[in-house]
Amino acid sequence: MDLKALCMYAAVLALFLCSAATFIQSPTDVFGPVALLEPTPSSARDFGAVVSDAPFAILRPGSSADIALLLGALSSAPPRPRATVAARGVGHSLQGQAQARDGIVVETRSLPRTVVVVAAPRAGGEATACAYADVGAGALWVEVLEECLKAGLAPLSWTDYLYLTVGGTLSNAGISGQAFKHGPQISNVLQLQVVTGNGEVVTCSRTKSPDLFFAVLGGLGQFGIITRARILLQEAPPKVRWVRAFYESFETFTKDQELLISMPEQVDYVEGFMVLDEHSIRSSSVAFPASIDFSPDFGSEGRKKVYYCIEFAVHDFQQDGSSSSVDNVVELVAGEMSHMRPHMYSVEVSYFDFLNRVRMEEESLRSQGLWDVAHPWLNMFVPKHGVAQLKDLLMDTVLAGDFQGAILVYPLLTDKWDGNTSAVIPSAPGGVMYIFSVLRSADPSRCGRGCVEEILEQHRRVADEACRAGGGIGAKQYLARQPTQAHWRSHFGPTWDRFLARKARYDPVRVLGPGQGIFPWTD
Ligand code: FAD
Repeated sequence: MDLKALCMYAAVLALFLCSAATFIQSPTDVFGPVALLEPTPSSARDFGAVVSDAPFAILRPGSSADIALLLGALSSAPPRPRATVAARGVGHSLQGQAQARDGIVVETRSLPRTVVVVAAPRAGGEATACAYADVGAGALWVEVLEECLKAGLAPLSWTDYLYLTVGGTLSNAGISGQAFKHGPQISNVLQLQVVTGNGEVVTCSRTKSPDLFFAVLGGLGQFGIITRARILLQEAPPKVRWVRAFYESFETFTKDQELLISMPEQVDYVEGFMVLDEHSIRSSSVAFPASIDFSPDFGSEGRKKVYYCIEFAVHDFQQDGSSSSVDNVVELVAGEMSHMRPHMYSVEVSYFDFLNRVRMEEESLRSQGLWDVAHPWLNMFVPKHGVAQLKDLLMDTVLAGDFQGAILVYPLLTDKWDGNTSAVIPSAPGGVMYIFSVLRSADPSRCGRGCVEEILEQHRRVADEACRAGGGIGAKQYLARQPTQAHWRSHFGPTWDRFLARKARYDPVRVLGPGQGIFPWTD
């Protein structure tokens, strides 16, 4: 588009948007080269299935310039915009965070999703600053993986589930069992292209416009829409040795997890989960192709007994079919662990299948009609000193009644998180914190009307107790929408002022990210 056409388009778009709220009958009214479209049902839906706020229109941008025109026009309509804008990847958020009631949803999947892999790795699995992938923010992590594997490379840090967009996870943090070693996904980004709330297209990095770079990482979609990202790569192993070990005692379980994360030379991935019943073992083993002979006594009603399972993995770079060096590593590591003997199980799977393991669980849940239900999840980062207390709190509340889902528990190291990003983690003396993920499903047709609201209310009480400022457990929520701005202020704690200042700099008219509820127009 030449400059003249661009200006004309911007002017028409501005006129359109100024009048949108009151005069436009239909979002499909013609207004220049990029049309806003009628909303689709998915633009008011997310994985949580708790909030459903319909937008006025959607935009399927073909480029960053399309988004820049939209945001430029909206942000120049003081004193406040006629419409808000939410970026939407694939809507796997939980509480309407990618929605915009009566606003505009920008679907990032329509941006070019090319994945350009640059340079070769150094031998030995070492990441180098010259091995990276330039990816469209609307690409799914599974698409990034598939493309990088063609060059024998892969990103260092993952989420458990790969059908999430790059822009969506970088707006939160992006964690999985590799994060103890490489940090969250937001610690493994070299550069971003961002369209700010002002409609400016900026390429930023640690050295170029660093304030915007760090603001946007973990920035909950508040400062700009990420359109491209440069992701650090390392050599990909062909295979992975994947191990599970069972525990009776929570204390021994966490002690061994901490042992494993102190061995980054040997261990590439550490997670864990609570084993609540036989179903926990079966459902978590959909992708784990070993026969697990573990059927302990789970107690009886009122005297429930739970167990714990550590999951760790070691990358196997052997090409010749032998896995002796990996076997030696697993033997060495296992020799130092204190799990219930003989309950350690291990399998060798391809690297792709390992990273894509939750897809198999998804397929299994879909086949039982248990995927497209409400997901009142509760995710919390907890400093090491509060871990046992939080486990007890969950046992007394969430696990005291009917529970359908899984609880993941695994340690992370706070020094792998860059304090300049917008992500919020608790203060954790000693540098160890845990993620507790209460991944709950609730199908109202099975658990009764109102059950989702009851679960949410119960989680709110647990979160209030766990995140209470001043002593106690000292947790911080992850992926949650806070109910009020006062809650957000307390969530951010000492970084609230920086968050506010960044908002004023990059999205002063507060166009972006209404679904997070951080900056409601009424304040
Ligand atoms: P959306 O839900 O579409 O958007 C999420 C937020 O990011 C919104 O505020 C949106 O406005 C903003 N946003 C989206 N794209 C952009 C962009 N390009 N620029 C700026 N802002 C943007 N998280 C983990 O860390 N680890 C896990 O292991 C993990 N596993 C998950 C498994 C499942 C089954 C599900 C449903 C979620 C999981 N998540 C996990 C959470 C997930 O990382 C976040 O919900 C993520 O935001 C989802 O990406 P999305 O593309 O669906 O984002």
